[in-house]
Amino acid sequence: MDCKHITILGGGISGLSAAYFLDKYLPNSRITLVEKTGQLGGLISPPLQSPFFETGPKTLAIARNKALLELIHDLKLSSEVIEGNLAERWIWNGKRLQMLSKKHLLRPQMVLAMLSDLCRKKSSPADTSVQQFIEKRFSRHVASTVFDPIGLGIYATSAKELSLSMSFPLLKKWEQKYGSVIRGFRKEGALLNRGVFTLQSGLYALINALYRSIHMEVLFEESVLSLEKQPRGMIVHTSSRKIFSDYVISALPLEEIARLMPFKSAFKMRWVQSVYLSYDQLPLQAGFGYLVPSHLQEEILGAVFDSHLFPKQERRKGARITVMMKAGSTRKETAIAALSRHLAITKKPDFAQVHRSQALPWFHVGFREDLAVFINRAKVCSPRLYFTGNYIDGVSVNACIKRSLSVAEQIVSSD
Ligand SMILES: Cc1cc2nc3c(=O)[nH]c(=O)nc-3n(C[C@H](O)[C@H](O)[C@H](O)COP(=O)(O)OP(=O)(O)OC[C@H]3O[C@@H](n4cnc5c(N)ncnc54)[C@H](O)[C@@H]3O)c2cc1C
Repeated sequence: MDCKHITILGGGISGLSAAYFLDKYLPNSRITLVEKTGQLGGLISPPLQSPFFETGPKTLAIARNKALLELIHDLKLSSEVIEGNLAERWIWNGKRLQMLSKKHLLRPQMVLAMLSDLCRKKSSPADTSVQQFIEKRFSRHVASTVFDPIGLGIYATSAKELSLSMSFPLLKKWEQKYGSVIRGFRKEGALLNRGVFTLQSGLYALINALYRSIHMEVLFEESVLSLEKQPRGMIVHTSSRKIFSDYVISALPLEEIARLMPFKSAFKMRWVQSVYLSYDQLPLQAGFGYLVPSHLQEEILGAVFDSHLFPKQERRKGARITVMMKAGSTRKETAIAALSRHLAITKKPDFAQVHRSQALPWFHVGFREDLAVFINRAKVCSPRLYFTGNYIDGVSVNACIKRSLSVAEQIVSSD
């Protein structure tokens, strides 16, 4: 390919990894990245220091982050990788914390639910809500006490509203392939449980390393305002420039790129809000953290025990806890009161900070089909426009990187 000008919109991990792969596979290309803020990384921002907290992604599953681990290796960051303590996960049942363990799975209610999954016929391949799928295959109890809190914890969306195919695609795949989720889990599930990792100084080290290694021009504090189709390319209109481009890659949040299209679409984003609490000299029970089912109508969705997960990220002794809050709830006092109720912490925290971001796409039932229609229509308007981001193959950092690699490969082979 001759020297092409490729413009990337958005400087989060999706945009940066797209730039990295293009620079690697098309070293003669000219890359311009347009970022609205004065900083790269998007949802991956510099961590809070002393006490140490990641305000974005903090736990990455070893088994599901191949693309990310390869990138970490290529960027010579492998010595920064630290594994998390593989630990118990808990569910708040309204009275006490209940461990999600093999013992929990042997309770009669759970055994009956698993038998139900093994006996039931597979459903149609069409998307459903997580609640509907789990309730039908297992039981209402499993849907509301296990999958609902997990869905809230990851996607900030209750199981009743959450698309199965976007949030738990493996469950559908196993049902379709093996006729039962349990059978699928027995065949393939062992591969998934290999622990979690992060980078010692936080994931922002990855953003810094990417920025240092890519040959590109970054336009900071430039907002993309509109896109204009050209016979062989596009013009990107930003706050102060017109950028003529052979190809454009959108790595913008879904709502943002949808707003730039000449047609309407109804995608929405979800707010994610957390309260970071640190308690000096407080011993914290072991564990990954706990989740709270939505039917209990609590103000918090759950908590992650940062100090237990990654003790190497902080030298001071004490407990670091991230409390995930319900939509609209951002009061530190609410988080502190919840921990006092659930974990019997009566001490006052020596650090409390709220963080809020409009971060995740709302994966409504039928999202995948709506997205396919959206991308097809966008491609008709702008054939040289490509899409990456956390709304296509999943929200994880790994899914974003994989998607960006695939977009870079499409551009490499398109001319
Ligand atoms: C609290 C939280 C915890 C998470 N935990 C995990 C986890 O543990 N593991 C995991 O794998 N994933 C996790 N995720 C998900 C993951 O972090 C995100 O899905 C991923 O970082 C999204 O990256 P992105 O580049 O697609 O989008 P973003 O990071 O949102 O980047 C988009 C960029 O576009 C820029 N932009 C927006 N509009 C414009 C415009 N008009 N013009 C120019 N630039 C614009 C933004 O400023 C931003 O820099 C978490 C997310 C959150 C919010």
